[in-house]
Amino acid sequence: MKSNEFFSWVRRRALYIGAGVVGTALVINSFPAITSRKFRNSAELSLKYEHAPPTRSANIERLDGSIQKPFDVLIIGGGATGAGCALDATLRGLDVAIIEKNDFASGTSSRSTKLIHGGVRYLEKAVFGLDLAQLILVYEALRERSIMINQAPHLCSIIPTMLPCYRWWEVPFYYAGLKTYDVVAALSKGTLKNSFAMFSAEAKSEFPTLRPKGPDESDLCGAIIYYDGQQDDARMNLSVALSAAIRGATVCNYMKVVDILRNDDSQACGVKVCDEISGEVHSVYAKSIINATGPLTDDIRKLEDSKAEDIAVPSAGVHIALPGHFTSRSNALIIPKTKDGRVVFMVPWLGHTIAGTTDRIVERTGEPRPTEEDVEFILESVRDYLALDVKRTDVLSVWAGIRPLAKDPNAKNSASILREHSISMGPEGIVTITGGKWTTYRKMAEDTVNFLLSHYQGLARKASKCSTETTQLVGAHGFSPLLKSEIAQSHRDLITSETAKHLARNYGTRATAVLRLVSENAELAERIVPEAPVIAAEVQYCAESEYAERAIDFLTRRTRMAFLNIEQARRSVPKVVELMARVKDWSAERQEQETKEAFRYLQQFTAQ
Ligand SMILES: Cc1cc2nc3c(=O)[nH]c(=O)nc-3n(C[C@H](O)[C@H](O)[C@H](O)COP(=O)(O)OP(=O)(O)OC[C@H]3O[C@@H](n4cnc5c(N)ncnc54)[C@H](O)[C@@H]3O)c2cc1C
Repeated sequence: MKSNEFFSWVRRRALYIGAGVVGTALVINSFPAITSRKFRNSAELSLKYEHAPPTRSANIERLDGSIQKPFDVLIIGGGATGAGCALDATLRGLDVAIIEKNDFASGTSSRSTKLIHGGVRYLEKAVFGLDLAQLILVYEALRERSIMINQAPHLCSIIPTMLPCYRWWEVPFYYAGLKTYDVVAALSKGTLKNSFAMFSAEAKSEFPTLRPKGPDESDLCGAIIYYDGQQDDARMNLSVALSAAIRGATVCNYMKVVDILRNDDSQACGVKVCDEISGEVHSVYAKSIINATGPLTDDIRKLEDSKAEDIAVPSAGVHIALPGHFTSRSNALIIPKTKDGRVVFMVPWLGHTIAGTTDRIVERTGEPRPTEEDVEFILESVRDYLALDVKRTDVLSVWAGIRPLAKDPNAKNSASILREHSISMGPEGIVTITGGKWTTYRKMAEDTVNFLLSHYQGLARKASKCSTETTQLVGAHGFSPLLKSEIAQSHRDLITSETAKHLARNYGTRATAVLRLVSENAELAERIVPEAPVIAAEVQYCAESEYAERAIDFLTRRTRMAFLNIEQARRSVPKVVELMARVKDWSAERQEQETKEAFRYLQQFTAQ
């Protein structure tokens, strides 16, 4: 072929491919009803969700009873992955226990950016790196996005995200990229809404705090809006665990796995656990074990095999919380490339703005602490894009989370860090799940339980198929966006509409159980601190029905006070301890100890 013939052949092919993408995008834009998923949810579950889960002490008795009747599956780690595995296996009809050494979601799963996303950045890598594995990851996550929103519509929602463009070519470049994101979402039947471009004037009115000039003083040319999901990660994690508990799983927080129990064939047949509240040690027996301990995965792998090589590559990411007025009320902002090439998000969340994140290799720890350097990096990155001056004193809270990145335990090249999740089996039969992200927690759980069943034939015969795709979580069944207005109207003498909105969002249809406490005792309608919508009845409800065992559980994960405003959380400590003491019958000494522990723990929401 001559060179001019070759170039015309290439031009023709490029034209066909371009026309194909644009044509597909146009079709998809026109028919979002076809490319979004309709769910037929299981109705049977709603009845079960009327009941409160068994108490922690009842669950400990069940753990002790396992010497006579071992659990089918025992899961170590009560983060998103472990809770997901517990719900999956329980719904398949297996007898399940899940053990968490601190509180549910106390690890990485409460410290994310709260996005339910396919990952725009990963798509860029997939396209430019011609990386099919990366593309499959994006496809899978986009599919899971809509499943997650359906699972808990009170905790998860759609969020428009603005990508500002400061050079003319960025508009068609990012538009094409985000249209490809729409196409992949449509192919996975995970369309939420389709992206679109806007002129700079419209972008400024949509996001009034956006700076009209970019970091290099070039003018804003326009913006692209695309759609992802957003969640309350800790509440979502808890809801998955509670849903498993109500369906029959034995769910226990503050129970640390300290050793593995072995049978005569040197196979794992249970674990030794230490109750972090009473100090008592228990033996728990099970036919199979899953290690879902996220960034701490190697601790359990080494209990199984002391010579096992480390696979975790702990990398910390920091977020800051700012007042809500720094973002538009409904739009997030993505900065696709900061000065040093990272992605930074500014996301409106629970009336505040969260901004992050960073990336720094750290030591393995359960309580990572942010540094002043992290805070300064985030502030610098967002300053370039904000019309308002954002100061260090505007930072209301700051927290760090550790990504559960891991090398593939099955790979020959031990340097390759996984982007997807990996499931492996240790020499004593413990199944380890590592990597992945929040958005794909359900699929990771499904794959893990399938893997486990493929190795345990007896359990496979007993288990039914995975049904989590159409299973809504506690608080979701019968939920409608009208709930907050109904609560505000029916309880207008007792609570403000801000509190009504908070209750509907935090508890979904279970908000009625919180309000029942208020009807019985009007004093419980009082706010914990005047500036936050959280009320006293919630402390009682969470201590009685949501496994809140410590004041910090309430301040960080049952509600998100510490993540939003550390000063408010600190001021709330005495009141929360007093209210919990009534439910838990704490002595004066225990109350003092709880207060001290709460102030110590809350230190990690400040930079060092
Ligand atoms: C900064 C940051 C931002 C992120 N943003 C997003 C995002 O926007 N969207 C997204 O999809 N993903 C995001 N992710 C990823 C996501 O948060 C994680 O993939 C997910 O939370 C990991 O869950 P996990 O259950 O595997 O780990 P974890 O949540 O850490 O859970 C592991 C649990 O195991 C427990 N445990 C450990 N050892 C023991 C033991 N010996 N006995 C009993 N229990 C034990 C721990 O206490 C912990 O609770 C982000 C991650 C980070 C760090």
